[in-house]
Amino acid sequence: MTDTDITEIAKRRRAILSELSEISETPPVLVAVTKTQPDEALEAILADGQRVFGENRVQEAYEHWEARRETIPDLELRLIGPLQSNKSEDAVRLFDVIETIDRPKLCRELAKAEEKTGLERTYLIQVNTGEEPQKAGVSPDGVQDLLATAREHGLNVVGLMCIPPVEEPAGPHFALLAKLARKLGLSQLSMGMSADYDLGARFGATHVRVGSALFGARDYSA
Ligand SMILES: *Cc1c(COP(=O)(O)O)cnc(C)c1O
Repeated sequence: MTDTDITEIAKRRRAILSELSEISETPPVLVAVTKTQPDEALEAILADGQRVFGENRVQEAYEHWEARRETIPDLELRLIGPLQSNKSEDAVRLFDVIETIDRPKLCRELAKAEEKTGLERTYLIQVNTGEEPQKAGVSPDGVQDLLATAREHGLNVVGLMCIPPVEEPAGPHFALLAKLARKLGLSQLSMGMSADYDLGARFGATHVRVGSALFGARDYSA
């Protein structure tokens, strides 16, 4: 990573923040998605003041954040990728917010992890708004029951997240997620990524998850 890359990251961050604040009087929180990013990219965006981060794998999140967490007390770490039940305890230890509750078994394991660690975290339910068979998330019809299950287990669920199908316009999916959240009295809405964070903001997102628009294209060979 060159000095120019590092300057670019801060510039892109400021441009996105200003775009979001033009769209909405209460703009969504920018969640910087740091999966696959090198240390220099993390340091660059931290130096620019970014404090809220999304990761989609527990192991990589530890590599990125376990040590930094000790020196940066105001970090907020959000798990945005699918969670295997057997990683629940590791996830609860590191993440402030887990956005990807999608099944009853995970509720049980997260509740056990909270009890064991003495930590209380914040949760979102991932909704498969496109009902895609290969995609994680509960179907829109199942959200209410899963919310009830999560609450029976004592989990503090505050919102919903979705990843619309890539080949469809995202607007109707964001609208559906917002409607479900309203109906269920949930306040957080995590929707919108690099290609459509502006649209997410227009549909009332409280959090947009942005990776490549901040850091440049990800290098999957790494
Ligand atoms: C990678 C990822 C993002 C960020 O994707 P970009 O298109 O790079 O902004 C957002 N949400 C989830 C769940 C992701 O896995």
